[in-house]
Amino acid sequence: MDTDVAVVGLGSVGAMVSWHLARRGVRVVGLEQFGLGHDHGAFTGESRLFRTGYHESPAYVPMLLAAREQWLDLEQRSSRTLFHPTGVLSIGLPGTPQMRNVLESLEQNDLPHEVLDAPALRERYPQHGCLTEEVGVLDRLGGVLRPESAVTETLRQAGDAGAVLLDREEVVEIEPTERGVRLRTTRTTVSARHAVVASGVWSGRLVPRLGTALTIKPLVLTWFAPAAPRDFAPERFPGFIRDLDGVHLFGVPSLDGALVKSGWADNWGSVDAPEQLGRFLSPQELEAVGSDVHRLLPDLPPQPSRHSVHMDVFTPDRRGVVGRVGPGVTVATGFSGHGFKLAPVFGEIAADLATGQRPRYDVEMFDPRRFDA
Ligand SMILES: Cc1cc2nc3c(=O)[nH]c(=O)nc-3n(C[C@H](O)[C@H](O)[C@H](O)COP(=O)(O)OP(=O)(O)OC[C@H]3O[C@@H](n4cnc5c(N)ncnc54)[C@H](O)[C@@H]3O)c2cc1C
Repeated sequence: MDTDVAVVGLGSVGAMVSWHLARRGVRVVGLEQFGLGHDHGAFTGESRLFRTGYHESPAYVPMLLAAREQWLDLEQRSSRTLFHPTGVLSIGLPGTPQMRNVLESLEQNDLPHEVLDAPALRERYPQHGCLTEEVGVLDRLGGVLRPESAVTETLRQAGDAGAVLLDREEVVEIEPTERGVRLRTTRTTVSARHAVVASGVWSGRLVPRLGTALTIKPLVLTWFAPAAPRDFAPERFPGFIRDLDGVHLFGVPSLDGALVKSGWADNWGSVDAPEQLGRFLSPQELEAVGSDVHRLLPDLPPQPSRHSVHMDVFTPDRRGVVGRVGPGVTVATGFSGHGFKLAPVFGEIAADLATGQRPRYDVEMFDPRRFDA
């Protein structure tokens, strides 16, 4: 098979690369090791927060605004809800680096938001059981994405635009040729001018040069059944991120009318290979998560109704890696637990690089060469 660009991995970012390329009229073949929309990727777990008040750095704001437009465009062309405009509430102690970044992102870019001092926060959002000192910033452009629907819808639109999308094709080798690259899968061979490797937690295998910079980390999600579900409906309870006493909690309102979802980050160590991920927590681990969630959200019960274990691949500086890693090969990986919201833009950047165009964003912060010894 012969094409202009081959995309390895049709998850969050690979789907977007295929969508962008196909819509530009570029011949693209996407190769996915599992079924399309499978449940092993970093895009599972029912929801992802979208924020423009960015804890990580205000430098992301131009990309976040462009990503939001692209999500809405994708949704408008579909018959599904991909984005719930719930707003996102950041809660923390005043003056922490995260809260400063949130405010700077919003204020410097004149984005709609509301600052809540401690009494206002307690009055408006009593569900969070806030301490006297904690303050809140409500990011009105924030919301909740539906990742499984978003990935399958992106693939559908990419296919409609002409992308050839092949499932159950694990790419095992990429080698340079005179014209570009040859990709060998478990079943076929694809020749292309360029390959984009968007293979998530599996990326270290195809791009060994990045191996030591990439760490696979488990991330756990829990769902709780509140006694008063209406208090956790989207109109009363926006998506949130809260940092307190070393606990980093994030969550979304009850979208199904019954359960509130919460994540508990940074406490699960790392695994050497995706196959080593344990899919269940022990009763002791569940109790520890439940008791932190109950402490911060006292109206939720101390025991989750269900949980699931996922993974993403992290870099030391928690910035993604998007750039050329060899003749004819661009990589897009390492999104460090916050890449879903930006997937349309990472896809656009990788599509630009694969076709020799200059991205419209400042992409130096994602340059893979920062990890060269
Ligand atoms: C629990 C959890 C919560 C998160 N919360 C948020 C959030 O609220 N907001 C946010 O913005 N981000 C969030 N993130 C981060 C975000 O979801 C990830 O950064 C993003 O989904 C990573 O996308 P990816 O394309 O790199 O990986 P994936 O979506 O996993 O895609 C990689 C794809 O490559 C395929 N593949 C791998 N190797 C091969 C091969 N050799 N051949 C063919 N195919 C291959 C895989 O099967 C997979 O389909 C969260 C992540 C997790 C796990």
